[in-house]
Amino acid sequence: MLKDQQGRQIEYLRLSVTDLCNIRCRYCMPVTGVEKTARDDILSFEEITRLVRVLVGLGVKSVRITGGEPLVRKELPRLIHMLHSIEGLEDLCLTTNGILLSEMARPLSEAGLQRVNIHLDTLDPERFRHITRWGNLPQVFAGLRAAQDEGFDPIKLNAVLLKGFNDDEIISLARFAAEQDLVLRFIELMPIGPGRNMKSQYLEAQYVLDQLSEQWTLVPFGKTLGRGPAEYYKVVELDSVVGLIHPVSQPFCDRCNRIRISAEGKFQDCLAYQEPWTLRDLIRTPGLGDDALTEAIAGLLKLKRADHGGFLLPQCTPTRGMYGIGG
Ligand code: SAM
Ligand code: SF4
Repeated sequence: MLKDQQGRQIEYLRLSVTDLCNIRCRYCMPVTGVEKTARDDILSFEEITRLVRVLVGLGVKSVRITGGEPLVRKELPRLIHMLHSIEGLEDLCLTTNGILLSEMARPLSEAGLQRVNIHLDTLDPERFRHITRWGNLPQVFAGLRAAQDEGFDPIKLNAVLLKGFNDDEIISLARFAAEQDLVLRFIELMPIGPGRNMKSQYLEAQYVLDQLSEQWTLVPFGKTLGRGPAEYYKVVELDSVVGLIHPVSQPFCDRCNRIRISAEGKFQDCLAYQEPWTLRDLIRTPGLGDDALTEAIAGLLKLKRADHGGFLLPQCTPTRGMYGIGG
């Protein structure tokens, strides 16, 4: 089991399989999208599987597939199947915008995917179109239904909290999640990528707590769900659970247990810094065996930085949107 220099145990990998996306959330991706990376520059499924196997040997227990939009990566169920067969990997899950989920839920489940998180900022089709620039909300609802039919459990909904956009939907989103037996989480807007220019729409997660507490009785849930950083509350009258992810107002760097690998194999120890090391060159080094690869990756894990410095450090200027980091 590997600990970094802060004594944090690294056990959670966010694995991006593409930078591309089929929508353009305003805080994440420029309207022009991103340039397609040459196929050879993206990690193959075999390379990804080898990296994950090495990381599981070093203590990683949970892998979340992300992107960009992971469902636009061709043959994704084949990768899920390959990762599912890695011994020691306890939790294999995926984060999606849900647009393609109605057709993909079945093959993903059959390949061994255990859980999905669906990104949904609003219940209003017009607002959804606005924030995603052309997204079609009924497609997300169809994806959600397909995920429920496949029995993924729990299904979590992720909503980025935006002042003047969805701050009047906190109650309706909570009600919707409870009715559908989903775990809703609100995420604070981070000053990353286009989100850097939307600071006026930032709202502290405390605002959600205040709104929910005016309406219902909230009790700290007392345990985590999965290996993420969300803080959970039980909403007594709804018999549901709501989570808050507050990296800006109450950073959780001291208990950060995660690392990230981008679609091109960049290793990222913290989402706030844009100086990733590349695992692609390492894994493609001729003759480099698994022992040497393990040693090199263990060295990188130890370098994980202590904190995100409030996203304010001079070296911390992530101009690339979250699509390139994986969230
Ligand atoms: N496309 C998938 C999705 O939207 O869930 C996976 C990738 S997306 C980059 C992962 C998460 O990052 C989403 O929940 C999204 O809301 C969040 N995200 C993107 N940009 C963000 C920002 N500037 N601040 C906070 N969260 C952001
Ligand atoms: Fe695409 Fe997800 Fe970024 Fe939205 S948040 S643009 S769905 S990658």
